[in-house]
Amino acid sequence: MQRKFKLIRELDEKCAANKSVVQDCHEGIMAGAHKDSVLQETVQKMRGLHQECVTWGDEKMSLAIQAYDMVDNRIRQLDLDLRRFEQELATDPKFKESLEKLRGDNAGAKVGSGRKKKATNVSDLDVEVDPNEPLYCICRRVSFGEMIACDNDDCPIEWFHYGCVGFTDNKIPNSWRCPKCINK
Ligand code: ZN
Ligand code: ZN
Repeated sequence: MQRKFKLIRELDEKCAANKSVVQDCHEGIMAGAHKDSVLQETVQKMRGLHQECVTWGDEKMSLAIQAYDMVDNRIRQLDLDLRRFEQELATDPKFKESLEKLRGDNAGAKVGSGRKKKATNVSDLDVEVDPNEPLYCICRRVSFGEMIACDNDDCPIEWFHYGCVGFTDNKIPNSWRCPKCINK
């Protein structure tokens, strides 16, 4: 593998060297440094160099493909090994046992977290019910949900839960007095 990469690099270097020679020839031609007879020769030389580069390019390509195949084979081999290893583990009673134990632990953890969650919920409720929060309604609880106000300005309670005084959300009278004020 290492060797192939080295070969590719060497080919790259050779190609670069050829390129610079071609570049020199090209510059020479442009500068008119060559006589016609020499020019023909130079063009021939350039063609040869170019052909070399093309050949090396093909070599590089095949080397790259070989390298790719090597990697591919290695991956396939690893894949196979992994599968074999998994099968061995699956048939190993010791492994099975530890796997089941692991699963059991997980189940236990789930139950534990469930309990914890419930406990948190309770404490959440405790936070919600502030002891200093004013109490309303005939039920003497804190305000929640939809509430209706008593029309008596001097009502000792003022606000009532819909449910506690027999209302549903869409059946609210325009004026209403609570049970304590209804006869005042
Ligand atoms: Zn109520
Ligand atoms: Zn009232």
